[in-house]
Order: sequence, then C-alpha cells, then structure tokens
Amino acid sequence: MDHARPEDWYALTKLADDITYICEPHITEYYRCNIWHVRGRERDMLVDSGMGVVSLSEWVPLVTERPLDAVASHTHYDHIGCHHEFNCRLVHAAEADILADPTRAATLADTAVRDEIFTRLPPAPYASTAYAVKSAPATRLLADGDVIDLGDRHFEVIHTPGHSPGGIALWEAVSGVLFSGDILYDGPLYEDTYHANAADYVASMKHLLEIPVRVVHGGHFASFGRERHRALIRAWLDEKGA
Ligand SMILES: [Zn+2]
Ligand SMILES: [Zn+2]
Repeated sequence: MDHARPEDWYALTKLADDITYICEPHITEYYRCNIWHVRGRERDMLVDSGMGVVSLSEWVPLVTERPLDAVASHTHYDHIGCHHEFNCRLVHAAEADILADPTRAATLADTAVRDEIFTRLPPAPYASTAYAVKSAPATRLLADGDVIDLGDRHFEVIHTPGHSPGGIALWEAVSGVLFSGDILYDGPLYEDTYHANAADYVASMKHLLEIPVRVVHGGHFASFGRERHRALIRAWLDEKGA
C-alpha cells in the first residue's frame, strides 16, 4: 500500500450552521472518525481531532484561525490523535486520565489499528505497530450540564456514558444541532468496548431520544435529521427490549 502525502490527508466540507466536516478519506469508513469544526464569534470549537497521523494545525489552516476549544467526545484513539496540538483541551472528567496517558490499550489502538484500516497509509514514516496517541492533559474537565461558550453560540454538555464512561454529546438548542460522538451514529454501533456499560448505554439512548434535534453529527458515518434520529434510537431500544 502506498503512503498518502500530508497535504492529501484531510478533506474539508463546509456545511450549514457554520460547521465544517473534516474527513480523513484514506481511513476505511467504519474506522474513520468524523472531525467537526464549529465557528463561533469569539472562539471556535473542534469536536474530536482524528487519528493524529498528520498534523491538523499544520495542514488545516481553519483550525488555527481563532482561539479554539478542542473537545473530545471521548478518548478512543480515532477521536483524540491531534488534541496535543491545541492549547485548550476539554474532556469529560471520567476520561481525563486517558487523555493524559493515552496508552494503546486504553484508547483501543492496540486492537483496532493495523494497515488494513487504511486505503492509503499515512505519510511515511508510519507503522501501525508503533502507532500511539500523544499525551494531551485536559485543561478543562467537563460534566453534564456544562456549557461551552463560543461567544454567540452555546453548546451544552450531555453526559452519554455507555460506549465509554466519559462519552459526551454537545447540544446547541437554538440551532437544533447535536454532536453525538460514538454513542449514536448511523452505522454499526460499538457496544462492547472494554469500558462499555450496557445499562448506561440504554439510559443514554433514552436521554438522547428526548432531545428535539434538527441535525445530528455523529462520531462516524453520515449526519442525519430528526426522523432518522428517532428511528435509530427506537429500533435500538426495541432490539434491547428497553
Ligand atoms: Zn470512534
Ligand atoms: Zn469510540
């Protein structure tokens, strides 16, 4: 397999609501984390930062245009790889230890990362066996109900444990935009990570069902609207008998 060039690693798509989708196109779909950039008046917000195999701050000028809050929806390797590049790093308190010490085991890199997850390898030198996330100790610990303030935009933190103990969703009530992380996306959900919790997962899904979303941007796969949001959660809860 050939190595991609760093300038080809990221692909940007500008969406509504001053949101930009930053994609890593050479990672296969299931393993590819969605990176979301949100423009605010005073500050910008980044929801997740990808695998970290190519520098975001070096190759995506958008992320350095304003002061920026780099939020981790949770701390699996595919979501926090570039967090160390940013001055403001936010994570739920329950996963602060992993962001500070992101071992291959704790971030799931040891079981997931191998050459087969790529369609083109990251720029050389790269070796899947040596892949690791860099430490990025949190500068702000998040809890349920906290608000991330971008000046003119306010995102409420919703604690959504289940996929992992410190999973969060980010909710902007004015626009109806929800960033859901890996607890809910439109693809096969991953419910048995080493720190997953089935009862928490059900409770988080029931909580998310109550939110009057207009659009949901998940941790993986394509974004979706209100009808799909309700259908996905209802089907999941039905399957669980919950
Ligand atoms: Zn993920
Ligand atoms: Zn995950």
